[in-house]
Amino acid sequence: MALQSINPFDGETLESIAPHDAAALERAVGAAAAAAGAWAARPVTERTAFLKAAAERLRAGRAELARVITREMGKLIGEAEAEVDKCALVCDYYAEHAERFLADAPVESDAGRSLVVHQPLGVVLAVMPWNFPFWQVFRCAAPALAAGNTVLLKHASNVPRCALKIAEVFVDAGLPAGVFATLLIDAARTEALVADPRIRAVSLTGSEAAGRRVASLAGEHLKKTVLELGGSDAFVVLEDADLDAVVEAAVRGRFINAGQSCIAAKRFIVVDACAEDFLARLRPAIEALRPGDPLDPATTLAPLARADLRDELDEQVRESVRAGARCLAGGGALDGPGWFYAATLLDRVAPGMPAYEDELFGPVAVVIRAGDEAEALRIANDSRFGLGGSVWTADPVRGEAFARRMACGAAFVNGIVKSDPRLPFGGIKDSGYGRELGELGIREFVNAKTLWIA
Ligand code: NDP
Repeated sequence: MALQSINPFDGETLESIAPHDAAALERAVGAAAAAAGAWAARPVTERTAFLKAAAERLRAGRAELARVITREMGKLIGEAEAEVDKCALVCDYYAEHAERFLADAPVESDAGRSLVVHQPLGVVLAVMPWNFPFWQVFRCAAPALAAGNTVLLKHASNVPRCALKIAEVFVDAGLPAGVFATLLIDAARTEALVADPRIRAVSLTGSEAAGRRVASLAGEHLKKTVLELGGSDAFVVLEDADLDAVVEAAVRGRFINAGQSCIAAKRFIVVDACAEDFLARLRPAIEALRPGDPLDPATTLAPLARADLRDELDEQVRESVRAGARCLAGGGALDGPGWFYAATLLDRVAPGMPAYEDELFGPVAVVIRAGDEAEALRIANDSRFGLGGSVWTADPVRGEAFARRMACGAAFVNGIVKSDPRLPFGGIKDSGYGRELGELGIREFVNAKTLWIA
């Protein structure tokens, strides 16, 4: 079946793109495997020169690429431009640091000389989602390529044009044939590919269901995986926090990308002492968000990326309200073309409700009240997810103590959870395992090989 590129703003089909047939898929996998040896043999600085060129290409094509992202995935144009910039940044980051991260590490032992050397694994399959259709790919590909792996991208089926554009960026950067390729295949064919002996590792960002399935297949075939799955990040507001600043951050942290971010602030856990004040400020800020054409810089609320995602979100909201949550703003899909969902505020969310237990991937702010700091911590950690979290307080020492006890992969004090090429990124519990970005990120897809010389 052809892949459909559909504009979430108005539902218009932009193009139908034919998937790769069996012969094209075999050519791509064969080329990636064939290119792996020569690519691995190049000095790191030669490999990273291509990343620098990719960064230049991204910057030069910023306006065009951002428009492709917005039209196909629906995000605000300013956010799409920022995404392209960040992709260039991660290429530059590994171009600058990969040589040091991959350097031989001498270790004292009974050998005359012993050391750890970092060698690539081979072909890495990157199974990627649509929400940050460029960033998720570059976050995975830049370190994997710098380490000397070749990369095959299986992108989400609703962003085929982005997938092809990313491949174009690498071609324009002069990357040798076979080192990076986009595969236009569906999930079923991807499962078969995981078993292919030429694929040596898999990185997946996406839903829990996809993560479980791909990781189990990879496990059966003994392949290394990194999984970056969903999150339900806590955003904890303590009574001493500066509420004006906190609410501004809360709106950004929850509504960026129309709420479709794994590290969005999905649970506002607010101590009773400031809950009413917080809500009194949050509600008008949410009601002020304006849906519209995401290509118009004045728009502040983008559509969701797909109709089925909107339906699922709506069901989660309705079920939570049926179970006793109070809807203070929004609460349903917006009329008209496109897949807009009203900016929504749910108060008095409690255990057992989807808004408490599950990931809500859309523009829905969820408020859970806590009696005090200790209860706020208990609630923050009462989630099967463990990706990120933040705490807001006037006292950074108190904040740090709280953040250290949060059960997640990244805890921020008085800051919105965000990814940064310099800092490792990843989760615990049902949010997955492994780390991307930083030094740990480039180490995931290498063979840390011991050399022992008498
Ligand atoms: P999916 O997890 O289904 O999609 C992510 C990627 O995995 C896509 O490339 C998809 O391909 C692929 N995939 C899915 N199932 C398999 C499989 N069995 N074998 C191989 N590849 C597979 O996410 P959805 O797009 O359906 O989004 C659903 C929910 O997932 C969201 O509402 C959100 O909760 C969560 N999500 C989390 C993200 C994150 O950043 N952590 C990002 C996106 C979604 P295809 O598109 O062809 O099915």
